[in-house]
Amino acid sequence: MSTHQASCQCKDLSATFDGDPDFVIVCNCRACQKRTGAPFGTGAYFRKTQMQVTGEARGWGRTAETGRALENFFCPTCGTTLYWTLEMRPDHVGVAFGAFDTKLPDPVRVIWTEEQHYWVAFPDDLPRFPKGSPEPR
Ligand SMILES: [Zn+2]
Ligand SMILES: [Zn+2]
Repeated sequence: MSTHQASCQCKDLSATFDGDPDFVIVCNCRACQKRTGAPFGTGAYFRKTQMQVTGEARGWGRTAETGRALENFFCPTCGTTLYWTLEMRPDHVGVAFGAFDTKLPDPVRVIWTEEQHYWVAFPDDLPRFPKGSPEPR
């Protein structure tokens, strides 16, 4: 079984994961743009039982577009958001794709294309959705 490792910029906060994520999702929503400072965000969704965190994480919560709760966890030293939890996916944790030092599977879908910058392009065979993921995933 593969093991994955992710960390913040300063490496005070890190996490290891037993096995691959259940799915990887690209999100173009404005909140993900704000979170990352990038034109889109990408999250690897693992089951919470796969994750082991090392270091201190500080949480900041908000309400998602769906009206459900979401909490970002970031390194208090360097500010990198490493992972987040969602009321929508209680068994999963989303982890910032760019924080991984190991190779992850490809994304399964692109969401929030309504807010995608026109100069961002994804492979044609990647399923896309104008808003969030179709239920339940
Ligand atoms: Zn850090
Ligand atoms: Zn988003």
